[in-house]
Amino acid sequence: SPRLENKVSIVTGSSSGLGRAVALRYAEEGAKVVCADLKPSARLPDLEDSNLETHELIKQNGGKATFVKTDVTSSTDWKALVEAAVKEYGRLDILVNNAGVGLEALRPPAQVHTTDEDLWDKTMLVNSKSVFLGCKYAIGQMLAQEPHSSGDRGWIINISSIMALIGGPSNPSYCASKGAVSSLTRQVALDYASSRIHVNAICPGYIQTAIFKETTARETTIEDLQRKHPFNGPGKPEDVARFAVVLASEDACWVTGTSMAVDGGYTA
Ligand code: NAD
Repeated sequence: SPRLENKVSIVTGSSSGLGRAVALRYAEEGAKVVCADLKPSARLPDLEDSNLETHELIKQNGGKATFVKTDVTSSTDWKALVEAAVKEYGRLDILVNNAGVGLEALRPPAQVHTTDEDLWDKTMLVNSKSVFLGCKYAIGQMLAQEPHSSGDRGWIINISSIMALIGGPSNPSYCASKGAVSSLTRQVALDYASSRIHVNAICPGYIQTAIFKETTARETTIEDLQRKHPFNGPGKPEDVARFAVVLASEDACWVTGTSMAVDGGYTA
C-alpha cells in the first residue's frame, strides 16, 4: 500500500532533476505534493521523461499536486508557500528542501583563493539560508496543527551532498553550503525531537541529471565515476527519490538528525 497516504508535502526545486523525481515518487506513494520552484517548467526538458510540468504530470497520473512559484531565498515566498499548502490541502506533513545551485553555478571551477565573493554569497544563500527559512516556516505550521495519525508532527528532508562529508575538488562554496545543511539538520532535529518532528538529510553522490552530463563530461570520464561509485556507478534521480520516501514514512520512525550518504559507495 502507498507509504505516504494522507500526507501533505512541499518539494522545492521540483521542476528539475532530483526534486522532480521526489515529487513524482511522493505522489505515487499517495502524498499530496505542493511543487515549488522558480518556474513550473523543467529547466532542461530535453532529458526529462515528459514535457509536462511536474504538477501536471502528477495529475495526469492520478495524483494530487499543485505548483507555487517560489524563490527559496525569500521569507515572503516561504510564508506564501506554506499558506498555499494549508489552503489547498489543509495541513503540512513533509518538507523536502531540495532546491539548490549545484554544478553550473560553480563553473569555472575555483579554489578558495580564486573563489569569487559573489559566488560564495549566492551559494550560501540558495543552498543554506533556504534550508533555514524552510525549516522555520514549515515547523511553525507543523507545531500549530494536529499531529499526523502516527503521532508525529512532521518530516523534514534536506538534500545535502556527499560534499558535506568529504572535500570535493575546486568547489569550496558548495562544500561549505552543504556542510551547513547537514549541521543545521542535526541541530534542528535535536530541538524538535520532543515535538516528534523528524529532520534528516540525504547526501547524494553524483546524479546523472542534465546539468551533470553537460559539466562532468568536460572534467572527468565515465570510468572514473564508475570507480568512485563502486555500487552501480553514478546514480539516477529516482535512486535518491526512493530513499526520500523512506525518510518521510513510518519506516523512519526512530530516525532523526542523520545525514545519510546515498552514493553507491562513494564515501565508503
Ligand atoms: P537541478 O539544477 O536539476 O534542479 C534544481 C532546481 O532547483 C531547479 O529546478 C531550479 O530552478 C531550482 N532552484 C534553484 N534556485 C532556486 C531558488 N532560489 N528558488 C527555488 N528554486 C530554485 O539540480 P539537481 O541536480 O536536481 O539538484 C537538486 C539538489 O540536489 C540540489 O540541492 C543539489 O545541490 C543536490 N545534489 C545534486 C547532486 C547531483 O549530482 N545532481 C549531487 C548531490 C546533491
